[in-house]
Amino acid sequence: MADYSLIIIGGGLSGLAAGIRFARFGGSVLILEKHAIPGGLNSYYYRKGFLLETGLHAMTNFAGPGEKRAPLNRLFRQLKLSRQEFVTREQYSSLIYFQGNNTLSFSNDFALLREEIACRFPGERDGFEKLLAIVDAYDPFTPKKWVSTRTVLGRYLHDPLLTDMLLLPLMVYGNSEEHDMDFSQFVIMFRSIYQEGFFRPGATMKDFLSLLVDKFISFGGEIRYNSKVESVALRDGKACGVVLAGGETISCDAVVSTIGAPGTFELLALPRQEEKYAGRMSFVESIYILPRQARETVRIDNTIIFYCLADRFDYGRPREAVDPSWGVICFPEHFVGIPPADYFQIRITHAANYDLWKKASALDYKAMKEEWGAKSRRITSKIIGNYQQNIVYEDSFTPVTIEKYTAKAQGAVYGSPVKVKDGITPCGNLFIAGTDQGFLGIVGAMLSGVSIVNQHILKAIDH
Ligand SMILES: Cc1cc2nc3c(=O)[nH]c(=O)nc-3n(C[C@H](O)[C@H](O)[C@H](O)COP(=O)(O)OP(=O)(O)OC[C@H]3O[C@@H](n4cnc5c(N)ncnc54)[C@H](O)[C@@H]3O)c2cc1C
Repeated sequence: MADYSLIIIGGGLSGLAAGIRFARFGGSVLILEKHAIPGGLNSYYYRKGFLLETGLHAMTNFAGPGEKRAPLNRLFRQLKLSRQEFVTREQYSSLIYFQGNNTLSFSNDFALLREEIACRFPGERDGFEKLLAIVDAYDPFTPKKWVSTRTVLGRYLHDPLLTDMLLLPLMVYGNSEEHDMDFSQFVIMFRSIYQEGFFRPGATMKDFLSLLVDKFISFGGEIRYNSKVESVALRDGKACGVVLAGGETISCDAVVSTIGAPGTFELLALPRQEEKYAGRMSFVESIYILPRQARETVRIDNTIIFYCLADRFDYGRPREAVDPSWGVICFPEHFVGIPPADYFQIRITHAANYDLWKKASALDYKAMKEEWGAKSRRITSKIIGNYQQNIVYEDSFTPVTIEKYTAKAQGAVYGSPVKVKDGITPCGNLFIAGTDQGFLGIVGAMLSGVSIVNQHILKAIDH
């Protein structure tokens, strides 16, 4: 008999959700995480007494506790998490800000975006309503051929500015492809951001991760940190266990890997196929901490600002190390019901070029961080006011940091542009969940973990 029915590689959000789902049904399950704490891309660390969250601007797919059929509540039911245990704080509103002072606001009430479009783009009103009917009727979860979102939008919207404005938040928060996106992914992101909306956990991401780990353990699951999986042991083409960095072998009946397609293939001693599966979209992010008094000098009207100061919004790997001409400015504590603390944060995200950061020497890397940080602050100060003189602490990370702390090839936050939507790999009882299965973001990663267990593991394993 195997040591465990299921081994999950990776203790990020998809791995934790998959683990809870399987443990809930009494399955013996072990999560192996190479780092000392859970969370993966969405984790936390301490610097100078500040708790910094690595991957949280906001969670998507907001739903009130009473909306039983909403994806968020379905997810929580599947994980046996109650909305009382998990307090949510909604965004105030977010802003899409394009050059020429073109703006669109949206909130968790979809009517706001509708009104904004009718008011600022009156000629596009009917086209937008027709697009909404298409989005409402579309089933993005049934496998389909790739469809160009820009082509579909071009049928209903005639002003490229509106197309670019609508695409920016959806692409930067969940598109692994450059320049265009698959229409199914557009529909998923449109619903989760514009029609459902942003929120954050009432407490910290650290607390949310503890809630998930505690739930997993309460169902009998086991988690081991500092446990890097080096390879998957195979017997007759099927996974029969995993081998850890120290040489220890742990046997199992099935494996779920959440570390992305190239990393998973490597564990199976297959070619990594980076040319096909490595994503090209990665980011730099700066986190600035300012004292409470500095709030008066910063325009904190919105929770998140998505800006573009270039003629057209080009979502792609930039030619230079960073592209500050567009980006995201987030106030991660500026959510309804979160009282002001002694300090507040500003997080700023831009597209970045992995190759240039990767090949930089240690000295150049440091200099590049300083140079691009200064450029970013100069540009974003034009939008939110000059916050620079009040910064008491700052930290930043690059595509190389993302690659180092997760297994995302080339630091691609949204993983491969080619998704393994059914989770199936050449190894019959090993499945891919998480970013490279296709659902993106925090809620998406958790939905992916749950759905892979539902579709494959619960059926396959008689425990
Ligand atoms: C800067 C940034 C900001 C973000 N902001 C948001 C946001 O505001 N809202 C949102 O919804 N999403 C956001 N995301 C995206 C979100 O964090 C991810 O989509 C989600 O967390 C992915 O979860 P995952 O489980 O698929 O992958 P991961 O989080 O990458 O988990 C994989 C885990 O596997 C572990 N691992 C890797 N290799 C091995 C190995 N060989 N053995 C054992 N363990 C291994 C890794 O350490 C990691 O913990 C952000 C991401 C980043 C980087």
